[in-house]
Formats: sequence, structure tokens, C-alpha cells
Amino acid sequence: MRILQEFQKIFGTAPDGLWQAPGRVNLIGEHTDYNKGFVLPFAIDRQASVALRLRTDQRILLHSLDSRAEAVQTSVDRLAEATGWSAYVLGVAWVLQQEGLSLPGFELLLDSTVPSGAGLSSSAAIESAVALALNDLLGGGLSREELVLVGQRAENEVVGAPTGILDQSASLLAAEGKAVFLDCLSRESRLVPLDLPASGLSMLVIDTKVSHAHADGGYADRRASCERAAEQLGVSSLRELGVEQLTQIETRLDQETFRRVRHIVTENARVLKVVASLAETGPEAIGELLNSSHLSMRDDFEISSAELDLAVQTAQQHGALGARMTGGGFGGSAIALIPQHREVGIRQALLQAFADAGFGEPDLFTVLPGPGAQRIIVPNC
Ligand code: ADP
Ligand code: MG
Repeated sequence: MRILQEFQKIFGTAPDGLWQAPGRVNLIGEHTDYNKGFVLPFAIDRQASVALRLRTDQRILLHSLDSRAEAVQTSVDRLAEATGWSAYVLGVAWVLQQEGLSLPGFELLLDSTVPSGAGLSSSAAIESAVALALNDLLGGGLSREELVLVGQRAENEVVGAPTGILDQSASLLAAEGKAVFLDCLSRESRLVPLDLPASGLSMLVIDTKVSHAHADGGYADRRASCERAAEQLGVSSLRELGVEQLTQIETRLDQETFRRVRHIVTENARVLKVVASLAETGPEAIGELLNSSHLSMRDDFEISSAELDLAVQTAQQHGALGARMTGGGFGGSAIALIPQHREVGIRQALLQAFADAGFGEPDLFTVLPGPGAQRIIVPNC
């Protein structure tokens, strides 16, 4: 494997082990995680691979095979100062240290096939692989559910992104051919069958490669708006509200806040319907729910973009069973659930539509529900 050869070249020795953790697609349940609601992500067959060797001194050396990521040298007493890509690695190390693990120095090489910044959570893939690696090597004894929280805390407190537990849960708790149904209030999760090939289906990711400048601000703004609404309505989170209460809620909020709440409430209901449909019928039954999720994000939560709307609309018009933007919004990727035999036509239609609109060429690729984070057994490690 290339990562092992490169590790040997860079550090002059073999690593102690190799760990992989996947990125994710959120099938449905957007912005519901921090509202203590439901989400349904699946791990994709693209991962961050981390080769790691513990050192006997306090030094930390980090390399990535991505040429845009510069090598970083630091030490175990300077973890909280991490910036750039190293924050995803050192943030996890810092949280483990805070939780009482005695952390020696280490050497790490990262190689990731999860596109960065595309809304597929390349960041949680890195955090999850590093959390699993350090927990294994240092005998931390933390469960996967605990490692989810380690990754989240690293992202919140060291990277500085106010994200929920969706991404790390998908990466650490997933299984091949399954989606992870997660209740963000109880933090309980359950695997739900998502066997796309058995139904003759594919999941096409349309990476618009556009990340709007207000993505971070927009995310924080929607989060604040949901928190204010919950306070105004006297509930501890929007999770507590049901679809049947919406008419009554409408009279108590300004129009914009009401639309934000309506997205969260209806999105939670859609997640539950998708979970039921997958169990009862299969993925061919969820297309319309994906479509209505997109409309809700476009019109009520207002986190879509012209590129995402075009991607969704074009896929729908050319044979997708359903399509929606996925991830935090304001750019990133859309997903389309498509019959396998329509893939070529849908790809062509998307490229044409983006060119006609004067948008940059999107990156198109299919993903399968893949396994969760794991240690890869390799000889001599
Ligand atoms: P997403 O999680 O949606 O991909 P983020 O902005 O949360 O987007 O995370 C992307 C960041 O993760 C990059 O800016 C970079 O710091 C880091 N990253 C992702 N892939 C790699 C890689 N192969 N090597 C180094 N850093 C990476
Ligand atoms: Mg991320």
C-alpha cells in the first residue's frame, strides 16, 4: 500500500498500525442534529487512512499525502495551539489528553480519498481515524460512542466548528450496506438496511465544488435561530415539536423563524418515514421524501444555492428517483438516488446543465454504503 511505503520513506520505519475511517453522505436529516432530532447518514466507500507510530519523546510529526497540506511539527504540550489541517489530528489528541490519557509523541501520515470541503465530512474521517488509532495504541478503552464525542469535541473546541455528532457517528458506527439511524437526543443509534445494488440503484454525488463565503456564518445563524425559536416556544429543543403543532406555532413566531422551525419539524418526520420505508420496502421507496427534504431546505431553511438547486432539478428531470442537497448547505454536494441504467444519461445532463448555466464543472461520482472506521491489519505493523 502506498501509505505504508510513504510512511517508511518519510519516517524511516514502519508504523505501529494503519487505521481507516470513512466520510459520509447524509441521506436525510439536515440541521436536525443540533436540534436534538433524527439523522440518517451512511458511511461512504471513501476513507481517511492514517498510519501512526508512537514515539518515546514528546514530539509530534504530521504529514499528509495531499500536497496542499504542509508537514507540521509540534509537541504534546502544544496541542491546543493547532491550526489548519493539523487541528483535526491534534484536536483529537488534545481531547484524549484532557480525558486523562497519557499521550506520548507520535508520527502520523494521512492519506484521504474523501474530497475535502465537499460536504462529505473529510474532517470527521480524519478525526475518527486518529481517535481510533490513539485509543487502540494507548489502550484508552473508549467505546465507539465515546470516540464520537471525542471527535465532536475536537471539532468544536480546537477546530472551532460548532458541529453536532452526525459526522463522527456515521464514520465510527456505520456498517457496509447500512445507514445509521441516530437519535441525537438519546444518542442511541441503529443500523438500517440500505442495499442500493440489490435494488439496481446507485447514489450519485454531485460535488458543485462551490463553497460559499457565508457557509460558516450561515450555519451559525441557522443554529442560533433554532435556539431562539425553542426558547420562544418554551421547549428545550425543536425536537419536542410535532408536525401537528405547526399551525398553532405559526401564530407565535415571525414568518422567517416559523419557516426555520417548519424545516426542522418536517425534516424529523421525513427521517422517520425514510427509516420505515427502508425497512418495509427498500430504497426505491424513498425518492419523494428526498425531494421534499430538498424543497424544505431551499424554501424554509434557505441553505441551498443556485448550483445545488440546478443539480437536484436536473437529476430529477433525467430519471433520478429523488435528489437533495446534503451537508450543511451554501454549497458542497447534492445526492441523487438513481437507477443504475440511467447513470450515464444523468451524468451527461448534469455536465450540460452546469455548462449552460455558466457554472464550473461539477465533480460526479457514485458512492456505496461502506464499512465504519476500522484498523486494517497489515504485515509488520
Ligand atoms: P468537509 O469535512 O466537508 O470535507 P471541512 O472544512 O470540515 O470540510 O474539512 C476540510 C478540511 O479537512 C480541509 O480544509 C483540511 O484542513 C482537512 N483535510 C481534508 N482532507 C485532507 C487531507 N487529505 N490532508 C490534509 N488535510 C485534509
Ligand atoms: Mg467537516
